[in-house]
Amino acid sequence: MSPAPQSHVFPRHTKSTLPTIARGEGVYLYDRDGKQYFDGSGGAAVSCLGHGDPDVIATIKSQLDEIAYAHTSFFTSDPAEKLADKLISHAPDGIDRAYFVSGGSEAMEAALKLARQYFVETGQPQRRHVIARKQSYHGNTLGALATGGNAWRRAPFAPLMVETTHISACFEYRGKAAEETTHAYGLRVANELEAEIQRLGEDKVFAFVAEPVVGATAGAVPAVKGYFKRIREICDQYGVLLILDEVMCGMGRTGTLFASEQEGIAPDIVAVAKGLGAGYQPIGAMLCSAEIYAAIEKGSGFFQHGHTYVGHPTACAASLAVLTKLTDGGLVERCADMGNRLQDALEQAFGQHPNIGDIRGRGLFRGIEIVEDRETKRPFDPARAVHKALKKETFAAGLACYPMGGTVDGQNGDHILLAPPFIMQDHHIDEIVTKLGIAIAKVL
Ligand code: PLP
Repeated sequence: MSPAPQSHVFPRHTKSTLPTIARGEGVYLYDRDGKQYFDGSGGAAVSCLGHGDPDVIATIKSQLDEIAYAHTSFFTSDPAEKLADKLISHAPDGIDRAYFVSGGSEAMEAALKLARQYFVETGQPQRRHVIARKQSYHGNTLGALATGGNAWRRAPFAPLMVETTHISACFEYRGKAAEETTHAYGLRVANELEAEIQRLGEDKVFAFVAEPVVGATAGAVPAVKGYFKRIREICDQYGVLLILDEVMCGMGRTGTLFASEQEGIAPDIVAVAKGLGAGYQPIGAMLCSAEIYAAIEKGSGFFQHGHTYVGHPTACAASLAVLTKLTDGGLVERCADMGNRLQDALEQAFGQHPNIGDIRGRGLFRGIEIVEDRETKRPFDPARAVHKALKKETFAAGLACYPMGGTVDGQNGDHILLAPPFIMQDHHIDEIVTKLGIAIAKVL
């Protein structure tokens, strides 16, 4: 790796030096020294179309020639209108409006503020509490951060947080008791929501927030069948809005455009980002039900929120090109199909490994949980930072993937998150397995 020149960039980890990215092509990334990396996690589950897609690039260029940017207090734009129409035509039942922001945290922030404003405008201002889940990440802005489950992320900012409490996520590998059926387990953890609403006061909670498939915090963990149906029932019973965070698992990543389609329920509000722009432009969206929109329309007529780049025409144009490829180009179905093949290959290669506890996920969103003891599911001592060693060795082997660690309530330890581009071919599955195998053999 070439030595980094004197830098004025403020990196996240001030003590590490990273290679400089030079270019990307299809499923590969190349650094300035020409080293090739398979983009095994699409960055952070972003690059669903891979790199250098000529259609998306052409769309962006032609949009720049027309108009790059105009502020939404003066104008709407064709790209924003068309993108909203297309997203809503594929969205869960009842979802009717789209609000475009610049990323996932902003989408979650908008979701939380809209939910709270809805109750303020409909005469229930006492609803000021959010319930979220322990294994979760919803972003790094203050509202989104409060709802995320990582206590260490929240700790320095605790005095600034929205009132939030955290119940268990639905995490079968870690949570289901040996004598319990999967169905009973799903109901038991869903019912934690009802107990928490009752504990806080039946009219005090404005939203329940969950990722349909937990991403970075736990490594592609879907809920068991029936869990979200029960969650929906509880939210309806107590008048709590259901906000689904599909920032990571949405936009086809799990094999359906919205991950919640596989749960047979519709949220009141859903946040999407990452795959929405596929990395070609920064964009996220908060989508809400007709009912919520109507309440604001009938009330103040003004969503008390906004950013300079809301509805950014170039970002919306890029996103429309991405969404068209996902929906009309058959890429979502392809993601489901390749995902099943990737799961099979991972199970075949690592399913019996003494330190691989679980291989899971949906579509091209797969998690591998690393344990010290397969029988007891005991994680490695966090001090060993197994995920960091895996990240280093996979990267050295030419595979960029997303290992994460950190226990939540002494539960899940290290895991690897795979989220490759949907355009990958069969032989790329072999490449992932081989490179992962090299790193696993070195570290474990
Ligand atoms: N929600 C989920 C589920 C995420 O995985 C992320 C980012 O990883 C976010 C929200 C925040 O998105 P962003 O980093 O674009 O602000």
